[in-house]
Amino acid sequence: MSIASGLPSDFSPSKYDAIVVGAGYAGAVCARMLAEGSSYRVAVLERRDHIAGNAYDYEDEAGILIHKYGPHIYHTTDERVHQFLSRFTDFTDYQHKVLANIHGTLMPVPFNHQSLKLAFGEEKGEHLYHKLVQAFGENRRVPILELRGRNDPELSEVADYVYENVFLYYTMKQWGKTPDQIDPAVMGRVPVFVGDDDRYFPQVPHQGMPNKGYTDLFEQMLNHDLIEVYVNVDARDLLGLEGTTTVVCGAPYGGEIIYTGALDELFGMDLGALPYRTLDMQFETLDQDQFQPVGTVNYTVSEDFTRITEFKNMTGQVVPGKTTIMREYSKPYEPGSGQTPYYVINEPDNIALYERYRSRVANIPNFHVVGRLAEYRYYDMDGVVASALSLADEIINQR
Ligand code: FAD
Ligand code: UDP
Repeated sequence: MSIASGLPSDFSPSKYDAIVVGAGYAGAVCARMLAEGSSYRVAVLERRDHIAGNAYDYEDEAGILIHKYGPHIYHTTDERVHQFLSRFTDFTDYQHKVLANIHGTLMPVPFNHQSLKLAFGEEKGEHLYHKLVQAFGENRRVPILELRGRNDPELSEVADYVYENVFLYYTMKQWGKTPDQIDPAVMGRVPVFVGDDDRYFPQVPHQGMPNKGYTDLFEQMLNHDLIEVYVNVDARDLLGLEGTTTVVCGAPYGGEIIYTGALDELFGMDLGALPYRTLDMQFETLDQDQFQPVGTVNYTVSEDFTRITEFKNMTGQVVPGKTTIMREYSKPYEPGSGQTPYYVINEPDNIALYERYRSRVANIPNFHVVGRLAEYRYYDMDGVVASALSLADEIINQR
Protein backbone atom coordinates (compact mmCIF):
# COMPACT_ATOMS: atom_id res chain seq x y z
CA MET A 1 0.00 0.00 0.00
CA SER A 2 1.01 3.58 -0.51
CA ILE A 3 -0.66 6.69 0.90
CA ALA A 4 -0.14 9.89 -1.08
CA SER A 5 -1.57 13.34 -0.52
CA GLY A 6 -3.35 14.59 -3.65
CA LEU A 7 -3.33 12.96 -7.07
CA PRO A 8 -0.13 12.88 -9.10
CA SER A 9 -0.26 14.83 -12.37
CA ASP A 10 0.08 11.58 -14.31
CA PHE A 11 -2.81 9.86 -12.46
CA SER A 12 -4.33 7.43 -14.91
CA PRO A 13 -7.68 5.82 -13.98
CA SER A 14 -7.17 3.04 -16.51
CA LYS A 15 -4.28 1.73 -14.39
CA TYR A 16 -6.90 0.60 -11.84
CA ASP A 17 -9.55 -2.11 -12.00
CA ALA A 18 -11.52 -0.36 -9.28
CA ILE A 19 -11.75 3.16 -7.87
CA VAL A 20 -13.04 3.39 -4.32
CA VAL A 21 -14.40 6.70 -3.03
CA GLY A 22 -13.90 7.00 0.72
CA ALA A 23 -11.43 5.31 3.08
CA GLY A 24 -13.88 4.46 5.86
CA TYR A 25 -15.03 0.90 6.61
CA ALA A 26 -17.15 0.62 3.47
CA GLY A 27 -14.32 1.67 1.17
CA ALA A 28 -11.43 -0.04 2.94
CA VAL A 29 -13.22 -3.40 3.20
CA CYS A 30 -14.13 -3.35 -0.50
CA ALA A 31 -10.60 -2.32 -1.49
CA ARG A 32 -9.06 -5.18 0.49
CA MET A 33 -11.55 -7.77 -0.72
CA LEU A 34 -11.17 -6.82 -4.39
CA ALA A 35 -7.38 -6.70 -4.20
CA GLU A 36 -7.26 -10.10 -2.52
CA GLY A 37 -10.21 -11.84 -4.14
CA SER A 38 -9.78 -10.70 -7.75
CA SER A 39 -6.25 -9.31 -7.87
CA TYR A 40 -7.79 -5.95 -8.70
CA ARG A 41 -5.53 -2.91 -8.72
CA VAL A 42 -7.43 -0.46 -6.52
CA ALA A 43 -7.18 3.31 -6.04
CA VAL A 44 -8.84 4.64 -2.88
CA LEU A 45 -9.70 8.34 -2.99
CA GLU A 46 -10.37 10.09 0.31
CA ARG A 47 -11.17 13.75 0.68
CA ARG A 48 -10.09 14.03 4.30
CA ASP A 49 -6.40 14.12 5.16
CA HIS A 50 -6.56 10.69 6.79
CA ILE A 51 -7.93 7.17 6.37
CA ALA A 52 -10.42 5.34 8.67
CA GLY A 53 -13.49 7.55 8.03
CA ASN A 54 -15.46 8.36 11.15
CA ALA A 55 -13.59 5.68 13.09
CA TYR A 56 -10.33 7.70 12.87
CA ASP A 57 -8.36 7.97 16.11
CA TYR A 58 -5.10 9.74 16.94
CA GLU A 59 -3.11 10.95 19.94
CA ASP A 60 -3.97 14.47 21.07
CA GLU A 61 -1.46 16.98 22.50
CA ALA A 62 -1.58 15.27 25.88
CA GLY A 63 -0.69 11.96 24.22
CA ILE A 64 -4.15 10.52 24.76
CA LEU A 65 -5.69 8.39 22.03
CA ILE A 66 -8.98 10.07 21.10
CA HIS A 67 -11.70 9.39 18.55
CA LYS A 68 -12.00 12.51 16.43
CA TYR A 69 -15.54 11.82 15.21
CA GLY A 70 -17.13 10.43 18.38
CA PRO A 71 -16.66 7.41 20.61
CA HIS A 72 -16.44 4.14 18.68
CA ILE A 73 -16.95 0.84 20.46
CA TYR A 74 -16.66 -2.31 18.40
CA HIS A 75 -19.41 -4.90 18.95
CA THR A 76 -20.88 -7.56 16.72
CA THR A 77 -22.82 -10.79 16.62
CA ASP A 78 -21.72 -11.36 13.01
CA GLU A 79 -19.06 -14.09 12.87
CA ARG A 80 -17.90 -13.29 9.36
CA VAL A 81 -17.40 -9.62 10.21
CA HIS A 82 -15.52 -10.55 13.35
CA GLN A 83 -13.26 -13.02 11.57
CA PHE A 84 -12.53 -10.55 8.79
CA LEU A 85 -11.60 -7.65 11.08
CA SER A 86 -9.62 -9.93 13.40
CA ARG A 87 -7.15 -10.47 10.56
CA PHE A 88 -6.02 -6.87 10.95
CA THR A 89 -6.13 -6.36 14.72
CA ASP A 90 -6.50 -8.07 18.04
CA PHE A 91 -9.37 -6.74 20.11
CA THR A 92 -9.05 -5.90 23.79
CA ASP A 93 -11.66 -7.35 26.13
CA TYR A 94 -13.07 -3.87 26.90
CA GLN A 95 -16.77 -4.15 27.72
CA HIS A 96 -18.50 -0.81 27.21
CA LYS A 97 -20.59 0.43 30.15
CA VAL A 98 -22.78 3.51 30.18
CA LEU A 99 -24.32 5.25 33.17
CA ALA A 100 -27.19 7.72 32.98
CA ASN A 101 -26.88 10.73 35.25
CA ILE A 102 -30.43 11.01 36.58
CA HIS A 103 -30.64 13.95 38.98
CA GLY A 104 -27.14 13.14 40.24
CA THR A 105 -27.60 9.36 40.61
CA LEU A 106 -25.65 7.24 38.11
CA MET A 107 -27.75 4.32 36.84
CA PRO A 108 -26.78 1.66 34.28
CA VAL A 109 -28.13 2.05 30.74
CA PRO A 110 -29.68 -0.05 29.26
CA PHE A 111 -31.92 0.26 32.30
CA ASN A 112 -31.56 -3.10 34.12
CA HIS A 113 -32.10 -4.93 37.42
CA GLN A 114 -29.58 -2.70 39.21
CA SER A 115 -31.08 0.48 37.73
CA LEU A 116 -34.54 -0.53 38.97
CA LYS A 117 -33.23 -0.82 42.54
CA LEU A 118 -31.46 2.53 42.28
CA ALA A 119 -34.58 4.21 40.92
CA PHE A 120 -37.25 2.62 43.11
CA GLY A 121 -35.33 1.45 46.20
CA GLU A 122 -34.20 -2.07 47.02
CA GLU A 123 -37.52 -3.65 47.94
CA LYS A 124 -39.80 -2.09 45.36
CA GLY A 125 -37.09 -2.38 42.68
CA GLU A 126 -36.83 -6.12 43.36
CA HIS A 127 -40.60 -6.51 43.20
CA LEU A 128 -40.82 -4.62 39.90
CA TYR A 129 -37.95 -6.67 38.51
CA HIS A 130 -39.89 -9.88 39.21
CA LYS A 131 -42.90 -8.40 37.43
CA LEU A 132 -40.69 -7.74 34.40
CA VAL A 133 -39.28 -11.27 34.50
CA GLN A 134 -42.82 -12.67 34.64
CA ALA A 135 -43.91 -10.53 31.72
CA PHE A 136 -40.90 -10.93 29.43
CA GLY A 137 -38.58 -13.63 30.82
CA GLU A 138 -35.03 -13.19 32.11
CA ASN A 139 -32.12 -11.82 30.05
CA ARG A 140 -34.46 -10.24 27.54
CA ARG A 141 -34.15 -6.95 25.69
CA VAL A 142 -37.45 -5.06 25.79
CA PRO A 143 -37.85 -1.90 23.67
CA ILE A 144 -39.22 0.96 25.75
CA LEU A 145 -42.08 1.46 23.31
CA GLU A 146 -43.11 -2.18 23.83
CA LEU A 147 -42.95 -1.79 27.60
CA ARG A 148 -45.11 1.33 27.39
CA GLY A 149 -47.71 -0.64 25.45
CA ARG A 150 -48.33 -3.09 28.32
CA ASN A 151 -51.59 -2.60 30.15
CA ASP A 152 -50.46 -3.24 33.71
CA PRO A 153 -50.18 -0.47 36.33
CA GLU A 154 -46.83 -1.64 37.74
CA LEU A 155 -45.24 -2.19 34.33
CA SER A 156 -46.57 1.23 33.33
CA GLU A 157 -44.89 2.75 36.35
CA VAL A 158 -41.53 1.34 35.21
CA ALA A 159 -42.19 2.35 31.60
CA ASP A 160 -43.12 5.90 32.58
CA TYR A 161 -40.07 6.27 34.77
CA VAL A 162 -37.67 5.03 32.08
CA TYR A 163 -39.39 7.01 29.35
CA GLU A 164 -39.28 10.26 31.34
CA ASN A 165 -35.83 9.83 32.86
CA VAL A 166 -33.81 7.97 30.23
CA PHE A 167 -35.35 8.60 26.82
CA LEU A 168 -37.41 11.78 26.63
CA TYR A 169 -34.91 14.58 27.20
CA TYR A 170 -31.91 12.78 25.68
CA THR A 171 -33.91 12.05 22.52
CA MET A 172 -35.12 15.66 22.34
CA LYS A 173 -31.49 16.80 22.49
CA GLN A 174 -30.25 14.22 20.01
CA TRP A 175 -33.02 14.42 17.41
CA GLY A 176 -34.99 17.60 18.20
CA LYS A 177 -38.06 15.33 18.51
CA THR A 178 -39.81 13.24 21.16
CA PRO A 179 -39.32 9.45 21.21
CA ASP A 180 -42.79 8.96 19.70
CA GLN A 181 -41.88 11.12 16.71
CA ILE A 182 -38.77 9.19 15.62
CA ASP A 183 -38.20 5.79 14.01
CA PRO A 184 -38.89 3.20 16.78
CA ALA A 185 -35.79 1.25 15.68
CA VAL A 186 -33.56 4.09 16.89
CA MET A 187 -34.62 3.73 20.50
CA GLY A 188 -34.86 -0.02 20.08
CA ARG A 189 -31.04 0.13 19.94
CA VAL A 190 -31.09 0.83 23.68
CA PRO A 191 -33.75 -1.42 25.22
CA VAL A 192 -34.71 -2.02 28.83
CA PHE A 193 -32.70 -5.09 29.81
CA VAL A 194 -34.46 -7.60 32.05
CA GLY A 195 -31.34 -9.00 33.70
CA ASP A 196 -28.09 -8.16 35.45
CA ASP A 197 -25.78 -7.71 32.46
CA ASP A 198 -24.75 -4.06 32.83
CA ARG A 199 -22.89 -3.72 29.53
CA TYR A 200 -24.18 -1.26 26.89
CA PHE A 201 -24.39 -4.16 24.45
CA PRO A 202 -25.75 -6.94 26.67
CA GLN A 203 -25.15 -10.49 25.51
CA VAL A 204 -23.21 -9.44 22.40
CA PRO A 205 -20.43 -12.04 22.02
CA HIS A 206 -17.72 -9.92 20.37
CA GLN A 207 -16.94 -6.52 21.85
CA GLY A 208 -13.80 -4.58 22.57
CA MET A 209 -11.39 -2.07 21.10
CA PRO A 210 -8.72 -2.67 18.44
CA ASN A 211 -5.65 -3.02 20.61
CA LYS A 212 -3.59 -0.49 18.62
CA GLY A 213 -6.54 1.72 17.74
CA TYR A 214 -8.83 2.06 14.72
CA THR A 215 -6.44 3.96 12.46
CA ASP A 216 -3.90 1.19 12.85
CA LEU A 217 -6.60 -1.38 11.96
CA PHE A 218 -7.23 0.54 8.72
CA GLU A 219 -3.51 0.78 7.95
CA GLN A 220 -3.32 -3.01 8.20
CA MET A 221 -6.45 -3.52 6.13
CA LEU A 222 -5.26 -1.23 3.34
CA ASN A 223 -1.74 -2.63 3.47
CA HIS A 224 -1.76 -4.60 0.22
CA ASP A 225 0.50 -4.36 -2.81
CA LEU A 226 -2.44 -3.71 -5.15
CA ILE A 227 -3.98 -0.85 -3.11
CA GLU A 228 -2.99 2.79 -3.50
CA VAL A 229 -4.58 5.42 -1.27
CA TYR A 230 -4.84 9.10 -2.15
CA VAL A 231 -5.98 11.43 0.65
CA ASN A 232 -7.00 15.08 0.23
CA VAL A 233 -8.77 14.12 -2.98
CA ASP A 234 -12.45 14.92 -3.49
CA ALA A 235 -13.68 12.36 -5.99
CA ARG A 236 -16.37 14.72 -7.23
CA ASP A 237 -13.61 16.69 -8.96
CA LEU A 238 -12.89 13.78 -11.29
CA LEU A 239 -15.99 11.60 -11.27
CA GLY A 240 -19.04 12.07 -13.47
CA LEU A 241 -22.02 10.13 -14.77
CA GLU A 242 -23.28 10.37 -18.33
CA GLY A 243 -26.35 8.20 -18.79
CA THR A 244 -25.21 4.76 -17.71
CA THR A 245 -21.54 5.53 -18.31
CA THR A 246 -19.16 6.47 -15.52
CA VAL A 247 -16.63 9.09 -16.45
CA VAL A 248 -13.34 9.53 -14.59
CA CYS A 249 -10.92 12.33 -15.44
CA GLY A 250 -12.99 13.15 -18.52
CA ALA A 251 -12.93 9.67 -20.11
CA PRO A 252 -15.35 6.73 -19.85
CA TYR A 253 -14.22 4.35 -17.11
CA GLY A 254 -14.66 0.59 -17.51
CA GLY A 255 -13.58 -0.56 -14.04
CA GLU A 256 -15.70 -0.73 -10.91
CA ILE A 257 -16.55 2.40 -8.92
CA ILE A 258 -17.32 1.88 -5.24
CA TYR A 259 -18.90 5.06 -3.92
CA THR A 260 -19.22 5.50 -0.14
CA GLY A 261 -20.02 9.23 0.06
CA ALA A 262 -23.43 10.91 0.22
CA LEU A 263 -25.51 10.40 -2.93
CA ASP A 264 -27.16 13.83 -2.87
CA GLU A 265 -23.69 15.46 -2.95
CA LEU A 266 -22.80 13.52 -6.06
CA PHE A 267 -25.67 15.22 -7.88
CA GLY A 268 -25.13 18.71 -6.48
CA MET A 269 -28.28 18.19 -4.36
CA ASP A 270 -30.41 19.10 -7.36
CA LEU A 271 -33.41 17.24 -5.91
CA GLY A 272 -32.84 18.76 -2.47
CA ALA A 273 -30.48 17.95 0.40
CA LEU A 274 -30.82 14.75 2.41
CA PRO A 275 -31.34 15.69 6.09
CA TYR A 276 -28.88 14.64 8.78
CA ARG A 277 -28.00 15.49 12.38
CA THR A 278 -24.52 16.71 13.07
CA LEU A 279 -22.58 17.01 16.33
CA ASP A 280 -20.40 19.64 17.94
CA MET A 281 -17.77 17.69 19.82
CA GLN A 282 -16.02 19.60 22.55
CA PHE A 283 -12.81 17.98 23.73
CA GLU A 284 -11.19 18.95 27.02
CA THR A 285 -7.99 17.67 28.62
CA LEU A 286 -8.02 17.72 32.41
CA ASP A 287 -5.11 17.53 34.85
CA GLN A 288 -6.40 14.46 36.64
CA ASP A 289 -6.11 10.71 36.28
CA GLN A 290 -9.80 10.02 35.79
CA PHE A 291 -12.99 12.09 35.38
CA GLN A 292 -15.83 9.55 35.52
CA PRO A 293 -16.19 5.88 36.45
CA VAL A 294 -17.08 4.49 32.99
CA GLY A 295 -16.46 5.15 29.28
CA THR A 296 -19.61 7.18 28.75
CA VAL A 297 -22.07 9.00 31.01
CA ASN A 298 -25.37 10.00 29.37
CA TYR A 299 -27.05 13.17 30.65
CA THR A 300 -30.65 12.12 30.32
CA VAL A 301 -32.48 14.76 32.38
CA SER A 302 -30.10 17.74 32.43
CA GLU A 303 -27.44 19.70 30.47
CA ASP A 304 -27.44 20.75 26.80
CA PHE A 305 -25.02 18.04 25.73
CA THR A 306 -26.11 14.41 25.40
CA ARG A 307 -23.11 12.55 26.79
CA ILE A 308 -19.54 12.75 28.06
CA THR A 309 -17.00 10.19 26.93
CA GLU A 310 -13.67 9.64 28.66
CA PHE A 311 -11.33 7.97 26.19
CA LYS A 312 -8.82 6.46 28.60
CA ASN A 313 -11.67 4.51 30.21
CA MET A 314 -12.32 2.83 26.88
CA THR A 315 -8.83 2.32 25.51
CA GLY A 316 -7.20 1.37 28.81
CA GLN A 317 -4.33 3.72 27.97
CA VAL A 318 -2.24 4.72 30.99
CA VAL A 319 -1.32 8.43 31.05
CA PRO A 320 -0.82 9.57 34.64
CA GLY A 321 -2.20 12.98 35.66
CA LYS A 322 -4.07 13.68 32.38
CA THR A 323 -7.32 12.63 30.84
CA THR A 324 -9.29 13.80 27.79
CA ILE A 325 -13.08 13.94 27.80
CA MET A 326 -15.55 14.93 25.10
CA ARG A 327 -19.05 16.42 25.25
CA GLU A 328 -21.47 15.95 22.33
CA TYR A 329 -23.98 18.60 21.27
CA SER A 330 -26.41 17.55 18.55
CA LYS A 331 -27.97 19.90 16.00
CA PRO A 332 -29.41 19.88 12.45
CA TYR A 333 -26.83 19.48 9.68
CA GLU A 334 -26.50 22.40 7.27
CA PRO A 335 -25.47 21.18 3.80
CA GLY A 336 -22.45 22.93 2.34
CA SER A 337 -21.37 24.31 5.72
CA GLY A 338 -18.39 22.02 6.19
CA GLN A 339 -20.16 20.14 9.00
CA THR A 340 -20.05 16.33 9.12
CA PRO A 341 -23.34 14.55 8.35
CA TYR A 342 -23.19 12.11 11.26
CA TYR A 343 -26.69 10.68 11.66
CA VAL A 344 -29.21 9.88 8.94
CA ILE A 345 -32.79 10.77 9.86
CA ASN A 346 -34.85 7.71 9.06
CA GLU A 347 -38.20 9.22 8.05
CA PRO A 348 -40.39 8.32 5.06
CA ASP A 349 -39.89 11.63 3.19
CA ASN A 350 -36.13 11.39 3.55
CA ILE A 351 -36.06 7.77 2.41
CA ALA A 352 -38.22 8.70 -0.60
CA LEU A 353 -35.78 11.49 -1.53
CA TYR A 354 -32.86 9.11 -1.08
CA GLU A 355 -34.55 6.54 -3.35
CA ARG A 356 -34.89 9.16 -6.09
CA TYR A 357 -31.14 9.75 -6.03
CA ARG A 358 -30.49 6.02 -5.79
CA SER A 359 -32.64 5.28 -8.82
CA ARG A 360 -30.29 7.45 -10.89
CA VAL A 361 -27.39 5.08 -10.31
CA ALA A 362 -29.35 1.83 -10.12
CA ASN A 363 -28.82 0.98 -13.79
CA ILE A 364 -25.14 1.80 -14.00
CA PRO A 365 -23.56 -1.65 -13.92
CA ASN A 366 -20.11 -0.60 -12.67
CA PHE A 367 -21.25 1.99 -10.10
CA HIS A 368 -21.83 0.59 -6.60
CA VAL A 369 -22.99 2.39 -3.46
CA VAL A 370 -22.21 1.12 0.03
CA GLY A 371 -21.88 2.52 3.56
CA ARG A 372 -23.59 4.71 6.09
CA LEU A 373 -23.68 7.78 3.87
CA ALA A 374 -24.16 6.16 0.47
CA GLU A 375 -26.94 3.84 1.67
CA TYR A 376 -28.45 6.54 3.93
CA ARG A 377 -28.67 4.02 6.79
CA TYR A 378 -28.01 4.17 10.53
CA TYR A 379 -25.36 1.48 10.42
CA ASP A 380 -22.94 0.49 13.16
CA MET A 381 -19.42 -0.41 12.09
CA ASP A 382 -20.22 -4.10 11.83
CA GLY A 383 -23.27 -3.43 9.65
CA VAL A 384 -21.14 -1.45 7.21
CA VAL A 385 -18.47 -4.16 7.13
CA ALA A 386 -21.15 -6.81 6.45
CA SER A 387 -22.65 -4.72 3.65
CA ALA A 388 -19.22 -4.10 2.09
CA LEU A 389 -18.30 -7.79 2.30
CA SER A 390 -21.43 -8.80 0.43
CA LEU A 391 -20.95 -6.13 -2.22
CA ALA A 392 -17.38 -7.32 -2.75
CA ASP A 393 -18.62 -10.93 -2.99
CA GLU A 394 -21.07 -9.89 -5.70
CA ILE A 395 -18.43 -8.08 -7.72
CA ILE A 396 -15.95 -10.93 -7.40
CA ASN A 397 -18.57 -13.53 -8.34
CA GLN A 398 -19.69 -11.56 -11.39
CA ARG A 399 -16.19 -11.40 -12.74
P1 FAD B 1 -17.51 6.89 6.87
O1 FAD B 1 -16.75 6.42 8.04
O2 FAD B 1 -18.24 8.19 6.96
O3 FAD B 1 -16.49 6.95 5.63
C1 FAD B 1 -16.85 7.55 4.40
C2 FAD B 1 -15.61 8.27 3.88
O4 FAD B 1 -15.85 8.74 2.58
C3 FAD B 1 -15.26 9.48 4.73
O5 FAD B 1 -13.94 9.40 5.20
C4 FAD B 1 -15.45 10.65 3.76
O6 FAD B 1 -14.52 11.71 3.98
C5 FAD B 1 -15.24 9.99 2.43
N1 FAD B 1 -15.87 10.69 1.31
C6 FAD B 1 -17.16 11.09 1.22
N2 FAD B 1 -17.35 11.72 0.06
C7 FAD B 1 -16.17 11.72 -0.59
C8 FAD B 1 -15.74 12.25 -1.83
N3 FAD B 1 -16.57 12.90 -2.66
N4 FAD B 1 -14.47 12.07 -2.20
C9 FAD B 1 -13.59 11.42 -1.38
N5 FAD B 1 -13.94 10.92 -0.19
C10 FAD B 1 -15.22 11.07 0.20
N6 FAD B 1 -20.45 2.26 15.19
C11 FAD B 1 -20.18 1.25 16.05
O7 FAD B 1 -20.17 0.07 15.65
N7 FAD B 1 -19.89 1.50 17.37
C12 FAD B 1 -19.88 2.75 17.88
O8 FAD B 1 -19.63 2.96 19.07
C13 FAD B 1 -20.15 3.85 16.99
N8 FAD B 1 -20.15 5.10 17.46
C14 FAD B 1 -20.44 6.13 16.61
C15 FAD B 1 -20.47 7.42 17.12
C16 FAD B 1 -20.78 8.48 16.30
C17 FAD B 1 -20.81 9.88 16.85
C18 FAD B 1 -21.08 8.23 14.93
C19 FAD B 1 -21.43 9.38 14.03
C20 FAD B 1 -21.05 6.96 14.40
C21 FAD B 1 -20.73 5.88 15.24
N9 FAD B 1 -20.69 4.58 14.76
C22 FAD B 1 -20.44 3.54 15.63
C23 FAD B 1 -20.98 4.27 13.34
C24 FAD B 1 -19.72 4.21 12.48
O9 FAD B 1 -19.02 5.44 12.55
C25 FAD B 1 -20.11 3.93 11.04
O10 FAD B 1 -20.93 2.81 10.92
C26 FAD B 1 -18.92 3.72 10.10
O11 FAD B 1 -17.81 4.50 10.43
C27 FAD B 1 -19.35 4.05 8.69
O12 FAD B 1 -18.35 3.73 7.77
P2 FAD B 1 -18.53 4.23 6.26
O13 FAD B 1 -17.34 3.80 5.54
O14 FAD B 1 -19.87 3.87 5.75
O15 FAD B 1 -18.58 5.85 6.39
N1 UDP C 1 -31.30 7.07 23.94
C1 UDP C 1 -31.83 7.81 24.97
N2 UDP C 1 -31.20 7.82 26.18
C2 UDP C 1 -30.06 7.14 26.40
C3 UDP C 1 -29.49 6.39 25.36
C4 UDP C 1 -30.14 6.38 24.12
O1 UDP C 1 -32.86 8.45 24.79
O2 UDP C 1 -29.53 7.20 27.53
C5 UDP C 1 -32.01 7.03 22.64
C6 UDP C 1 -31.69 8.27 21.79
O3 UDP C 1 -32.81 8.58 21.02
C7 UDP C 1 -30.53 7.77 20.95
C8 UDP C 1 -30.98 6.34 20.66
O4 UDP C 1 -31.59 5.90 21.89
O5 UDP C 1 -30.36 8.53 19.78
C9 UDP C 1 -29.88 5.39 20.26
O6 UDP C 1 -28.84 5.43 21.22
P1 UDP C 1 -27.36 4.97 20.86
O7 UDP C 1 -26.54 5.08 22.10
O8 UDP C 1 -27.41 3.67 20.19
O9 UDP C 1 -26.90 6.10 19.83
P2 UDP C 1 -25.49 6.39 19.15
O10 UDP C 1 -24.42 5.75 20.00
O11 UDP C 1 -25.59 5.85 17.78
O12 UDP C 1 -25.41 7.89 19.19
